[in-house]
Amino acid sequence: MKRVFTLALMLLGAALCLNAKTPVIGISAYSEDGRCQVNMTYVNSVRMAGGVPLVIPVTGDDNQIAAIIETIDGLLMTGGEDFDPLKWFGEEPVRGLGEVVPTRDEYDVKLVRAAVAKGIPVLGICRGEQLLAVAFGGSLWQDIPSQVPSSYVKHRQSPTTGTVGTHSIDITKGSILATILGKEKAVVNSFHHQAVKDVPAGMKVTAVAADGIIEGLERSGKLNGFADGGAMILGVQFHPEIITNSGNPEFLPIFRKLVEEAGK
Ligand code: MN
Repeated sequence: MKRVFTLALMLLGAALCLNAKTPVIGISAYSEDGRCQVNMTYVNSVRMAGGVPLVIPVTGDDNQIAAIIETIDGLLMTGGEDFDPLKWFGEEPVRGLGEVVPTRDEYDVKLVRAAVAKGIPVLGICRGEQLLAVAFGGSLWQDIPSQVPSSYVKHRQSPTTGTVGTHSIDITKGSILATILGKEKAVVNSFHHQAVKDVPAGMKVTAVAADGIIEGLERSGKLNGFADGGAMILGVQFHPEIITNSGNPEFLPIFRKLVEEAGK
């Protein structure tokens, strides 16, 4: 009898192990020179956090996106080019606007809206954070140097390598970001000339640079006017994946949080 009981326990244990699926984290790609590409820093950061990275090719096809959304447990939206201001928030392009890639704009917006609608947690990095504003009714500074006179911090640290943090941010106490990092101040890297201007309803600012430029966003409630499954929405303007990939664990909790939420 005792032996049967032990065997039953072992079978139950094995079944539970098989059931505990490792979360699959979709990573948005960019397409350039006829290639579908993602920096390995994103892929490696997801791996280091315990997730399975799955690169999602650029597509505007709704059926493809719907099928991909069925496959993933979490979504990481990556950095890249500028958003088309006229199309997404009704502003004429200013002279400082950089390259716009309409196919990627459409893909990013469709993908993140589909994920949020289905209750899949989202982490947006750099352009991915700006996407959270663009896709859900907010807007961007198209070009910080020409549009925000009060901004004095160097937000484009290049040529300084991204493994080095260059400017500080203040993180809101009680936010997801402050909780997972365990602090309300950090030094981050910075490779952007755009930033979030108007924050959508249902989201709040959780980190700012010394000049007030938004460096972190997250969900504060229900999104207004968009299908919303209620899962985590987290965005950062800096590049935690470059620092994580370099072996510095300071920002690894950001990726761990995404994988943890994706496992729920
Ligand atoms: Mn910055």
